[in-house]
Amino acid sequence: MKTLVNSKAGLFAILVLTLLLASCLPESQVPGIGLAFNTELLVDTGATYGEMMAGESSTFTLTWTAVDDAEWYDIRISPNPINDSNWYTALRIDSVPAGDSTIMVAYVQVQPEVFENTCISCGLCVEACTQDAMSLIDGKAVIDLSKCTACGECVIVCPVNAITDSRFGQAYYFAIRAMGSGNTPSEVVSASGNYRLQYMNYEPYCGRCADQCFILLESCGPGCPVDAIWYTSTPGADSGLIHIDYDLCIDCGQCFIQCREYGLWSIMKEVVAE
Ligand code: SF4
Ligand code: SF4
Ligand code: SF4
Repeated sequence: MKTLVNSKAGLFAILVLTLLLASCLPESQVPGIGLAFNTELLVDTGATYGEMMAGESSTFTLTWTAVDDAEWYDIRISPNPINDSNWYTALRIDSVPAGDSTIMVAYVQVQPEVFENTCISCGLCVEACTQDAMSLIDGKAVIDLSKCTACGECVIVCPVNAITDSRFGQAYYFAIRAMGSGNTPSEVVSASGNYRLQYMNYEPYCGRCADQCFILLESCGPGCPVDAIWYTSTPGADSGLIHIDYDLCIDCGQCFIQCREYGLWSIMKEVVAE
């Protein structure tokens, strides 16, 4: 092999062999023979804006360095790290035009999931669901995902936080390839690390309500099911400020819903890097 690649004839033979192999594959699975595109795929962290209630949008913003000879960009997402070998199993988010170097990936719907152990069989979610997707089976709420339109109403009405938006806490990995002439993907996959969504207290908006925080007051709703919310009780600059203990938080989203229910916007959704 060493002798072969060291000779011009050998290199030519390898090139012909590679092209022959590539021509036998479907176009979408042509291996890395395209553009020498390799970029750092940046993912914005921090608060995601533009959402009010459980079912509204949370976003990831991705940025890369565009190249002149790209015809478009193929952007993918996966719950697992994306690399050259599993690229085709990752979900394509979008086909981005050549001139662009950023994209906002928006989630406009929830992925409801029931904590069976927490459900108290009240049936409020069954009543609230306009799609007839919720039912009580053996006294526990069950979602028929074939009917669910992911509106988030059940998440909002549940009095004991038994329904969560399961997008939160999940791992999200992203990757990009520039597509050249003939839809040939760039040689290598440029991949991001692991990101996820979580709820946060956005301090500038916090009412610093301390023990009068609507999330903590039992008279205002179910509150945090795992007592992950606490406030600074010592006098000082952050006195009364609400905090989330992420070692305890189970991403149920009730603090977000309850804070807005009472007209404050302190709890937001944020993107964090792992
Ligand atoms: S998210 Fe909406 S459609 Fe889906 S089960 Fe809940 S209330 Fe029904
Ligand atoms: S609203 Fe909550 S507690 Fe009531 S049945 Fe539905 S999941 Fe269970
Ligand atoms: S702090 Fe976490 S567990 Fe507590 S209500 Fe908020 S999202 Fe739910």
